[in-house]
Amino acid sequence: MRDGEQTPGVSLTPDEKLEIASQLSNLGVDTIEAGFPITSPGEIQAVKLIAGAGLKSEICALARAEQKDIDLALGCNVDLIHIFIATSDIHLKHKLRMTRDEAFDRAVKAVQYAKDRGAQVEFSAEDATRSDPDYLIKVFQGVSDAGADRVDIPDTVGVMAPVPIFDLVSRVKKSISTPISMHCHDDFGLATANTLSGVLAGAERVHVAVNGLGERAGNASLEEVVMSIHNLYQKKTNINTRLLYETSRLVSRLTGVVVQPNKAIVGENAFGHESGIHVHGIINMPITYEPLEPELVGRTRWIQAGKHAGIHGIKAQMEQLGLSPTEVQLREILTRVKDLGDKGKTLTDTDLDSIARSVLGKVAEKRLLELEDMSVMTGINSTPTASVKLSMDGNTYVAAETGVGSVDSAIKAIQKISERLASIRLKEYRLEAITGGTDALGEVVIKVEDKEGNTASARSSSGDIVIASVEAMIEGINRILMKRKLTESVIGPRPKVRLANP
Ligand code: MN
Repeated sequence: MRDGEQTPGVSLTPDEKLEIASQLSNLGVDTIEAGFPITSPGEIQAVKLIAGAGLKSEICALARAEQKDIDLALGCNVDLIHIFIATSDIHLKHKLRMTRDEAFDRAVKAVQYAKDRGAQVEFSAEDATRSDPDYLIKVFQGVSDAGADRVDIPDTVGVMAPVPIFDLVSRVKKSISTPISMHCHDDFGLATANTLSGVLAGAERVHVAVNGLGERAGNASLEEVVMSIHNLYQKKTNINTRLLYETSRLVSRLTGVVVQPNKAIVGENAFGHESGIHVHGIINMPITYEPLEPELVGRTRWIQAGKHAGIHGIKAQMEQLGLSPTEVQLREILTRVKDLGDKGKTLTDTDLDSIARSVLGKVAEKRLLELEDMSVMTGINSTPTASVKLSMDGNTYVAAETGVGSVDSAIKAIQKISERLASIRLKEYRLEAITGGTDALGEVVIKVEDKEGNTASARSSSGDIVIASVEAMIEGINRILMKRKLTESVIGPRPKVRLANP
């Protein structure tokens, strides 16, 4: 949580930090670095709040190798203090303006000081991977003699590759008996690989961040490291992997940092399939193109219709829609899907449904959720406000919300109701003008998601972008409700397989 919150532009309130910490504790994280108390009064409050919340995880606070930092951390009643000082000549010369001997003394005294006050201590040699290894080991020996419970090898600026970091960790491991932690940054996209390499060389602990958040390109991502340790190394951690996805979404929502779609494990596309060959494969046997069972990380598999689609995928999607076209109808649906794909269209679930229904000559199912009324007020000196009235199963629901603009306030008002009724939230929103002029048709494509990770997409166009947005949102919510009613997974269970040997 500490390095993760150091992501540029991210800052959390004490309550938000507590919400994330509780989730991490449920997830099974061994130690939560709750914060860096010297940073701000709010940070002190947050660390105290988390340390006092009775979570299962051990709670840690960061401190420089200085008395005032350590005193502040101790005052927060944490279980563990993470003390750091830089050991590379680059940092000693340009930042700390200290000699190696001075830094050594400072490190040993700081650890001693915290140990004398009864705290557990993890010591980090900042910029360890650009430090002289002999000096680094000397520092680790010094702090171990002073009672440090663990030492950490941070690749602070992410400059290591898997082989050199394996060698470095092996060397440290031979020289000290204190348990070793890894702390890798992703500047070259190698944070996860380097962390795993450190583990192979004997490191017992890993510093990670949900969604790979952190300074610059971020830290090793929790979900990638955990799933790799479990599946590629066949080793256990205390993490309940089924909570990985909801944890990722919570962190993304509270930090405002969107997860890239092609991110491993938690990215939108990690369990999505479009290509006909792949879809055919997973329908027959998921392990053909899925190295991981999506349910293992709290997700569900989804199929995208588009120009790469094949007959088997479309057939499966029809079953999900509760439709059973003949072979000839199925071919016609596929042709129309590919046609739209070739025109560069992203096919939404609504598009697929309406294509299928027009081929089958069926009328659309009655919507479960209906928009009864909506009004939006906006202006220069007034806060955009929307109120909506929706109905479902004969009941009427009304909600009002404010937002940064009229679309935002209207969507938020709908979401207020859909979250309460069915835990459905907006996941993606895209707006395009499809003709010129102020009367241009605005086309909105949205994706919504429920608590179980079911997603649905929908599209709507109108001369008024607020109307288009609201209609697309209502359509998307209806899609998910419909899917929930119909979904008996068309895909069977999968056998357990070993992926690789460590
Ligand atoms: Mn860091």
